[in-house]
Formats: sequence, structure tokens, C-alpha cells
Amino acid sequence: MLDKIKKYSDRWAVVFLVFGCVACGGAQGQSQSLGAFGTQVNQFVADASSHGVSVDTSNLVVQVGDLSSASTTTVVNGVTETTTNVDVGQCDFTEAGPTVTISATAIQSFGPESLEALVYHELGHCLLKLEHNSNLSADGTPASLMYPTGVDGQTYLKNRAAYLDELFSQPQNTAFVGGG
Ligand SMILES: [Zn+2]
Repeated sequence: MLDKIKKYSDRWAVVFLVFGCVACGGAQGQSQSLGAFGTQVNQFVADASSHGVSVDTSNLVVQVGDLSSASTTTVVNGVTETTTNVDVGQCDFTEAGPTVTISATAIQSFGPESLEALVYHELGHCLLKLEHNSNLSADGTPASLMYPTGVDGQTYLKNRAAYLDELFSQPQNTAFVGGG
């Protein structure tokens, strides 16, 4: 008789565990929103982990949006040239949580390596709280993924391991309030 009761209670325990897991997944999914960037974010989390860094993506939002652009006009030898610089990425800390915005222009015109470099740069701001780093390597390429204007896809692909070592070894600036 005692054996029978024990078996029943075991079964209930299993049912409760299943319920517990469902509730857990639902609560986590409520605020996180990665849009089309789940692959890059999951890769970032894995790369962080392999460098011994744990990042909290539970409230992370990654979205596509319009970002500001600025045009500068110069006259060279009587020829007027207009250069338009479009912001391709932005990190803001909102009530919802750390929010990365990637411009539609970047998605349309960037190759996969450039897009990953851009998303990693913005996650560097939003998850690692890193500021920009303007240092250059001896060969003239950016020393960090946090270079103000980012790193182009080819340079990133060639030096990816070194860039990740640099990115995940920097101290976080808890006072960082967001930026592009
Ligand atoms: Zn930036």
C-alpha cells in the first residue's frame, strides 16, 4: 500500500516539473525579442561563454529601425560632393531593457560578416557596457570591434579570434548609458 502511494506521488512530481518548465520558458520569453538576430545573439552568448564571460540576454531587444543620418557637402576643384553618413547601429537602455537597433540599410547592404561585426559591436555596448576604442593596430586596422565606425567584414573575418579575445577581456563600464 505504501508502495502505491509513493508511485502516485512520483507521478505528480513529474507533472509539476513539466508545469514548472513551461512557466519558466514563458516568463523569460516575455521581454526578450531578438527579431531576425537570434543567430548572432546566440553566437555572441556562446563566444562570451567560451571566454569565461556570462551575459544576461533575458531583457535584450534587437530590432530593425530607422537611425539618423548626416550629410556633409564639400567642394573640391569646383565639384560639389555630398557624403551621407548613415548610423547603422545603436544601443539604448530603455525601460524594456538593453535595446539594439540595426538600420534597414545595414541589413540590405552588409554581407554576413559585416552584419555580425555590427551586431557584436552593438552587443558590446548593450551587454558588455563597453565604450568606443579608437586604437589602431600596427597595420592600420581597428584594434577593437568597438572602433567608433566599426570593422569591415573582411578585416573582421581575418582577425575574428583576436577581436573576440579583445572584446571579452575589457572591463565593463557600468556608467555607460548607450550609443551608436
Ligand atoms: Zn558604437
